[in-house]
Amino acid sequence: MLSLLAAVALLLPLLAVLQYRWLGQVSTAERERMGAVLRSAAAQFGETFDREITRAYSTFQQQRAGEISQLAKEYAGRFQEWDTSASYPRMVRDLYLIVADAQGSNRLLQFEQGAAAFHQIDWPEELAELQGVTMPTDPIRDEIPALLIPSDAADEGASRILCVVVVLDLDHLKQVVIPALATRFFAADDELEYELAIVRRSDPQAVVFQTNDNLASRATNDAVTGLFEVRLETLLGRPEAQERKGLVRIVKRQRISTGEEELPGRWKLLVRHQSGSLEEAVANGRRRNLAVSFGVLLLLALSVGFIVVSSGRATRLAREQMKFVAGVSHELRTPLAVICSAGENLADGVVHDRHQIAEYGSLIRNEGRRLSRMVEQVLEYAGAQPGRQPYQPKPVELRAVVEAALNESRLQLEEGGFKVETEIETDLPLVNADAAALQRALQNLLGNAIKYGAENRWIALRAWKDSPASGSEEVTLTVEDRGRGIPARDVSRIFEPFYRSPDVVAAQIQGSGLGLSLVQHIAAAHGGRVSVESRPGQGSSFTIHLPIAAPTAS
Ligand code: ADP
Repeated sequence: MLSLLAAVALLLPLLAVLQYRWLGQVSTAERERMGAVLRSAAAQFGETFDREITRAYSTFQQQRAGEISQLAKEYAGRFQEWDTSASYPRMVRDLYLIVADAQGSNRLLQFEQGAAAFHQIDWPEELAELQGVTMPTDPIRDEIPALLIPSDAADEGASRILCVVVVLDLDHLKQVVIPALATRFFAADDELEYELAIVRRSDPQAVVFQTNDNLASRATNDAVTGLFEVRLETLLGRPEAQERKGLVRIVKRQRISTGEEELPGRWKLLVRHQSGSLEEAVANGRRRNLAVSFGVLLLLALSVGFIVVSSGRATRLAREQMKFVAGVSHELRTPLAVICSAGENLADGVVHDRHQIAEYGSLIRNEGRRLSRMVEQVLEYAGAQPGRQPYQPKPVELRAVVEAALNESRLQLEEGGFKVETEIETDLPLVNADAAALQRALQNLLGNAIKYGAENRWIALRAWKDSPASGSEEVTLTVEDRGRGIPARDVSRIFEPFYRSPDVVAAQIQGSGLGLSLVQHIAAAHGGRVSVESRPGQGSSFTIHLPIAAPTAS
């Protein structure tokens, strides 16, 4: 047992330390893995968004020269193509042509899809800044937001088509496109794991989108990526092909440097884990894992402790049982030896005198009684084990029980020369009890009072009704002696089976150590208890407390 304890005491802290370290390493790896996954998700978010932008750009890119009316027909076809092929067709809100006339001022023509025609309109406020455009080199105006596609159409009379303006629907982007992409790349089970914000690169205070308030102004982010650019290389294949079309130039130009990092796009996507940061999320996971594994270790330690305690208890019980067997055998041997030798003497005719024969007879009777009392106790103890209920309670008058017990012990009391004071309250209520068991309990207490009553040879037996301050009314049965008393250190143990005070063992007073445990068992089985008061050298008083029987309806 000791070596098991030592092994556990050594192993548990070792396991705890190893667990702590390994979980630390696992967390570091987990943090790196989550970081990589997050960065890749952010990049894919940007790429997917840009793919839609680029598709819009390439769909409405004017490739063939022609008159405006011809162009209008072509754009009607393009719109149809866009509506059927784009993932989010409603992200394109309006289409315009900017046309420079002979006087050098720009006119704005709006495309009307129903009529498949361009109509001149006044410059709306959102496009006012394009009024002075000459030759657009920048394909994106993210503050509108709009795509500007340079025109390669031939001059039409005095006027010249400068560019096609594809105006994007910002509300649709914010309410449909971005949330859909966020769910696609940053959600698990339709629940966003990350908080997102999109700000304009040229003005980080300008928040385009955010999942929570004040998100854009936070200091740290788990991932940052750029988006909103025309990535023609993704649509048009090899760079040489693009070079020929003069598109690479545009793509290259729009990669603007912010000074912090070279990111594509006009907008910046900021991503942070819901629990504050990726670091925090991993730390939370680590704390949870540590709590679980330390909990398991604690449970293990408790189980080992429990095993040690219960096996200690089992060993103690086995030792006490051995002591009991040895004690009982010893106790049995003495009366048996006396009975045998007295019997032999009588049988051999050694004793003739009538007086002597009577003495032998009473000797054999007394020893026989002692034997049967001990056998009774052992049997009762065996019967009192948990799960067995040998008692049959019914309403009983205590006076009868007391008198029967005194009657049974009369001989012993008379031989010992005991003075017995009996005090039984008149009109004592009935108790619900097994009369025979109660009598045995009382006899055990009387037997102890006789055994341990010393020279004073005085016993009091009282029965009365009591109303304790706490609890309901009860009937008490007290056996008091003026004997040797019980040392304070033993009082708490005398009700344990097989326990005998070392003083009485030393004084060679015979007994099995079972009597009081049986008294307690009988009292408890009747819903009562046993109490004891004792002063060493002055005497003891044992009281059985029993609940009063409920009055039966008659
Ligand atoms: P036993 O009397 O066979 O030893 P019990 O269970 O009846 O076993 O009593 C347990 C112990 O309690 C006794 O060994 C004795 O030390 C102590 N004891 C019980 N009754 C008395 C008493 N009336 N006076 C003093 N000691 C007592």
